Amino acid sequence: MKPHDGMYIDRAWRPATTPDRIEVVNPADEQPIGTVPAGAREDVDAAVHAARAAFPGWAATAPAERAARIAGLRDALAARRDEIAETVTAELGAPLPFSQAVHADLPITVAGSYADLLGTYAFEEKVGNSTVYLEPVGVVGAITPWNYPLHQIVAKAVPALAAGCTVVLKPAEDTPLVAQLFAEAVHEAGFPPGVFNLVTGLGPVAGQALVEHPGIDMLSFTGSTAVGRLIAATVGAAVKRVALELGGKSANVILPSADLGRAVNVGVANVMSNSGQTCSAWTRMLVHQDQYEEAVALAATAAAKYVPGERVGPLVSAKQRERVRGYIEQGVKEGARIVAGGAEAPLDQGYYVSPTVFADVTPHMTIAQEEIFGPVLSILPYEDEADALRIANGTVYGLAGAVWAGDTDEAVAFARRMDTGQVDINGGRFNPLAPFGGYKQSGVGRELGAHGLAEYLHTKSLQF
Ligand code: NAP
Ligand code: MG
Repeated sequence: MKPHDGMYIDRAWRPATTPDRIEVVNPADEQPIGTVPAGAREDVDAAVHAARAAFPGWAATAPAERAARIAGLRDALAARRDEIAETVTAELGAPLPFSQAVHADLPITVAGSYADLLGTYAFEEKVGNSTVYLEPVGVVGAITPWNYPLHQIVAKAVPALAAGCTVVLKPAEDTPLVAQLFAEAVHEAGFPPGVFNLVTGLGPVAGQALVEHPGIDMLSFTGSTAVGRLIAATVGAAVKRVALELGGKSANVILPSADLGRAVNVGVANVMSNSGQTCSAWTRMLVHQDQYEEAVALAATAAAKYVPGERVGPLVSAKQRERVRGYIEQGVKEGARIVAGGAEAPLDQGYYVSPTVFADVTPHMTIAQEEIFGPVLSILPYEDEADALRIANGTVYGLAGAVWAGDTDEAVAFARRMDTGQVDINGGRFNPLAPFGGYKQSGVGRELGAHGLAEYLHTKSLQF
């Protein structure tokens, strides 16, 4: 795609108020691919004003009208499927088949799910002598990361628009181009002026200006726990609603009765997918001590199939690559054993990290506690189920996880005791309608499906 010079505000591509630009780099070959404006406080202010002015009109539309616009948005995204996939491959580095099947198709599905949901969703309910109306929260500030760049935008902007909210989006500085494509699709779908606005820019500048802006009613953020904590403090102090989708360190618990080979292979694939840049990735594999060495050997063999530059793309930036390499070195320093990969760069060019598997990991090691956000798997032994549960729940995070057992009921019984928002049972498939979000420091609130729509609604009760 050819980048837009301006920001999408009030249904027009407007020049930024400053000459500052962000250079977008292809992480596979380290070459610049374009620039976008680095928005300032004034740009955020213009976008929030446009969104405020548009709010009463959009909030008053019938759900069927919003459904028609969102169906149009889904179609406009679908018409750009190849361009979306190529753009995400260029700015994130994901292999093209993965960009097509996940980075493009998943958000198209999610957008469509909200067009469908508006056909049936009850925006009012009777409770005794009351009628409860569900009303849009207002102007939503949305701040998104680069790891699933279009999915993260759609998972916030589309339910907000479906609820009748208006939106100002600040996407990640590393992946602003697909955000511009999203704005093009919004435009084509005919949303009224100011209903959706895009300000590209840096987190501590444009992002912070949006968080602090008195004209927003809610802030929805996905990204690191460190930034999420800052945002929650500011938005909470203003007594506004906040939704946070933060980090994860999910456990993949393989019970002794499970199909070990399948559980390990699917577990490795889960971690290597998107170069390990997935907040819900199962980065800790928990295996019974009697099956431990067998599982380690299987995982090492599986990891070797993920060849950098072929099945595995680079990390998004040199900064992220260095961060992940630092964690690998830390793992070695703390006594874990590398059985695949390692900290050395696998290729001369591009921000690649070797798919890495650690054995002999103990629950308190840094690599077992902190989110690494790269293709790095830690395998931990457990003694019995109680020990497995303690290890699984023994981090500050609780976003996702997996349980494998010979019997579904056995797996479910274990999953019910995990402090986490999503658990896949024996390889259960991702469901784009199921609520997604975290326990503990993995976040506040839920995205996707009807629960994701409810995040953007207030209740008003009238008594008769
Ligand atoms: P991040 O700094 O939390 O960035 C997420 C978003 O917040 C980006 O749009 C970012 O802008 C913006 N931002 C940064 N500082 C801000 C501030 N002070 N006020 C308002 N907005 C701000 O995450 P990152 O640096 O991209 O990645 C670092 C780590 O975060 C990763 O290693 C990983 O552990 C975690 N992460 C988690 C997820 C997830 O899905 N849960 C996704 C991505 C990253 P810029 O793009 O300009 O920085
Ligand atoms: Mg950042």
